[in-house]
Amino acid sequence: MHNKTLIELSKSLHNREFSSVELTQHFLDRIRQYDQTLNSFITVTEEIALAQAKAADKKLASGKAGPLTGIPLAQKDIFCTKGVRTSCASLMLDNFISPYDATVVEKINDAGMVMLGKTNMDEFAMGSSNETSYYGAVKNPWNTDHVPGGSSGGSAAAVAARLTPVATGTDTGGSIRQPAALCGITGIKPTYGTVSRYGMIAFASSLDQGGPMARSAEDAALMLNLMTGFDERDSTSIEREKEDYTRSLDNSLKGLKVGLPKEYFSEDLNADIAGVIEGAIKEIEKLGATIKEISLPNTRLSIPAYYVIAPAECSSNLSRMDGVRFGYRCKDPKDLYDLYARSRGEAFGDEVTRRILIGTYALSAGYYDAYYLKAQKIRRLISNDFKNVFNEVDVIIGPTSPTVAFRLGEKSKDNDPVSMYLADIYTISVNLAGLPGMSIPVGQVEGLPVGLQLIGNYFQEAKLLNVAHQFQQVTDWHQKSPEGF
Ligand code: GLN
Repeated sequence: MHNKTLIELSKSLHNREFSSVELTQHFLDRIRQYDQTLNSFITVTEEIALAQAKAADKKLASGKAGPLTGIPLAQKDIFCTKGVRTSCASLMLDNFISPYDATVVEKINDAGMVMLGKTNMDEFAMGSSNETSYYGAVKNPWNTDHVPGGSSGGSAAAVAARLTPVATGTDTGGSIRQPAALCGITGIKPTYGTVSRYGMIAFASSLDQGGPMARSAEDAALMLNLMTGFDERDSTSIEREKEDYTRSLDNSLKGLKVGLPKEYFSEDLNADIAGVIEGAIKEIEKLGATIKEISLPNTRLSIPAYYVIAPAECSSNLSRMDGVRFGYRCKDPKDLYDLYARSRGEAFGDEVTRRILIGTYALSAGYYDAYYLKAQKIRRLISNDFKNVFNEVDVIIGPTSPTVAFRLGEKSKDNDPVSMYLADIYTISVNLAGLPGMSIPVGQVEGLPVGLQLIGNYFQEAKLLNVAHQFQQVTDWHQKSPEGF
């Protein structure tokens, strides 16, 4: 059962080959069996899952079921789930039971999907390795000495190990695409404003965007159909007509113009990965696309700009965690200042603290113009780079990550955050520009998956999914699963 795609699961459930309760129990058993090793879940919601599965079976029996009714999924623990702990992988929210559902959760529940639990992540989604979680690191199922990537590493590992058919993720600078690449799955971050941020705990509000993490482009398209749509409760949600993201999956790639950014193939890129990516590009060429070298000259400025903007926004967003309104409170505070300072000091991990400090500094009077404003100007230059290129090509293609999954501790041990930050060198500019980006598995290096990144113009998700699906029709990297799971 756990190797079936969403379409196959849907067919089996509708034909009553097995019930949603049986399917849900199967995944709960797998989580029990394998998650001791992987640590991909923070909370397993067994009771809720079985109750939702029962309700789904009723719907299926009455003929009122939708395409994904009764199919289990896992929610990244950044999405608020009513009555269930929503921790954002932080001690700060370890005791936070959300009183409401995020819009994404609401939409998924309304479709009759079954929530298996909440997945592990980097604390407040800050990280690229899933090692900053208060609940401990997640292991990569392809090699458990290696990281799964971050921040949606729990979702990526759980999907890769078949502990759930599909999961949600969020991507502020690469957190859907990079872990998808490192775990050999398919993930898409849609255009900023496409998926509601209501109830998605904010990290950097102008960059955060939710999306699906799945095993194939087709599965991701089905999930996007559920997750997207205008939401008046999110002031940055974009009002546009609902689209069917599966509509062009089967289109031919003949005449598709693909751009390869020369900045993405510099010496930072591991040579073996470069070889795998070149192979994937040849495959896409065989499918009828024409390839052209392009340039995104400001790519190298994306990390410095991001590490001003994201910390600035997070320092503001996380100020609500003050030990008063909700979340962690220190013991026996001497006075109000002590309450704030110790609650925050004790409950935030090192990376979150570092970002709050940087962000507060960058936003302070006298430095605002020098840092935040400057970074926003660079952001515009980066967007303009993409704008120019999309006059010439339909899709941009390149590596998702400069390396395969690195060893646990490799980049976190020397307290050298910059080496971790560089893991997102190919993904961050996409968030700064607000564009859709996707990662699909296209090969392996030493038994670890390699991801290909596809970047599209605004609202071109269907085009990315089309390219990815066509690639997946002639290759089987997306069907490979890690041994032992
Ligand atoms: N790794 C990046 C960071 O640490 C991006 C994280 C994300 O996309 N949430 O900020």
